[in-house]
Amino acid sequence: MRPPTPRENSKYVVIGAGLAGSAAAWKLAQRGHEVTILERTTPANAAGSSHGSARIFRYAYPETFYAELVTRAKTGWDELELLTSTRLISPVGAVDYGTTRDPRSLARVLDQVGVEHELMGAEEATQRFAGIAFDTEVLWQPGAGVIDAEESVLAMVDLAVKNGARLENNWPVRSLQATDSGYRIMAVDGRSIDCEKVIVAAGGWLPELLGHLSLPSGFLAGMPSFEVHQEQAFHFPYADAPRGTEGAWPTYIHKAAEFQSYGLPGGRDADYLGQKVAEYKGGRVMRGASEQDGVVDGANRERVIEYVKKFLPGLVPEPYAETTCLFTSTPSEDFILDEIAGITIMSPCSGHGAKFAPLLGEMAADISTGVDGVPEIFRPGTKAQNLLLQGAGAR
Ligand SMILES: Cc1cc2nc3c(=O)[nH]c(=O)nc-3n(C[C@H](O)[C@H](O)[C@H](O)COP(=O)(O)OP(=O)(O)OC[C@H]3O[C@@H](n4cnc5c(N)ncnc54)[C@H](O)[C@@H]3O)c2cc1C
Repeated sequence: MRPPTPRENSKYVVIGAGLAGSAAAWKLAQRGHEVTILERTTPANAAGSSHGSARIFRYAYPETFYAELVTRAKTGWDELELLTSTRLISPVGAVDYGTTRDPRSLARVLDQVGVEHELMGAEEATQRFAGIAFDTEVLWQPGAGVIDAEESVLAMVDLAVKNGARLENNWPVRSLQATDSGYRIMAVDGRSIDCEKVIVAAGGWLPELLGHLSLPSGFLAGMPSFEVHQEQAFHFPYADAPRGTEGAWPTYIHKAAEFQSYGLPGGRDADYLGQKVAEYKGGRVMRGASEQDGVVDGANRERVIEYVKKFLPGLVPEPYAETTCLFTSTPSEDFILDEIAGITIMSPCSGHGAKFAPLLGEMAADISTGVDGVPEIFRPGTKAQNLLLQGAGAR
């Protein structure tokens, strides 16, 4: 670790370089702000939530609110791909099915937001998407795909740096203290940096960091109880599929009462040879990222293998690779993107945040620079703080 250095300054500091922090830094730097990114280790590191080559990009949500946000996020992905001349979303399409996924109501939502889709019976779907044993009717979204999470983080950090941002790797933040002009951010090794505004995008480390950020008590009390899962995913080889992205399977979400699963082509991580399959929230629950051990639970592996045998007959039911990753969830699975006194808290995970990254970066840049527009549902801290102040005023 680098020895402590004299205090430094930056107008905006972003803590964490996963998908959330890198998007915020990109958008702030793009608008001409002075930004420093402080990252515990390195961008998109394997201990966080944004590593690897595969996250589902889909429009289907039970709520029109989120489906509409995806359409807005897509504009940001298009911009990012254009600016970097890199394909970050592979357009393989997506299928959604299962008794509790309710493809028909998802289709109604997509009608409302104007996203191309098709509903089909299980038999037709089995013919079109060989290898999957569908158990209900199926929603097909041709515009869905697979996000390369790691490449996306690196692309956004790169653009931030090209726009003048500074990246400090191996800079683990311990705490924040208020100063006359903003905040002093302290590292665990005694280094510090002064800034006017802070964006905290610490992923699974947020629950343990929240109490060290000088946040007003009302705001802090409004934060939901976060649950951090050590999610685990397994790569299964295709029984017979061409190597590469040509002919790759679609992504899927299958929700039945007894088992909820998602899967997608694993891409680079899995040498393009198979489908990444997971049981939704199948891993153990922790208080925060510091409790993760990266050990895959054997019982979960067995459950997923049994699932593959029953529902994914086009895969060889023997995983050839496996990984763990952090889900940082709120009880409602809504994101947190809230600000008070120059501190922005960004927790856009709950297992579905990747697809929104560029839009959330835009919103973080807005809220931290005093521009309105972040949905109220993402701001429970402000709501709680306002209620506290109103209560005090009424006395
Ligand atoms: C297995 C899995 C599958 C997923 N699938 C999908 C999907 O299909 N579709 C989808 O849309 N989303 C999906 N997601 C969610 C998506 O990946 C997350 O929403 C996203 O990666 C969260 O990014 P983040 O920046 O909030 O967190 P992270 O990527 O964890 O970034 C936080 C960063 O902060 C750094 N940090 C932490 N503490 C400190 C500190 N004190 N000082 C400095 N730096 C610090 C960390 O090192 C880390 O780099 C999935 C997530 C997982 C784990």
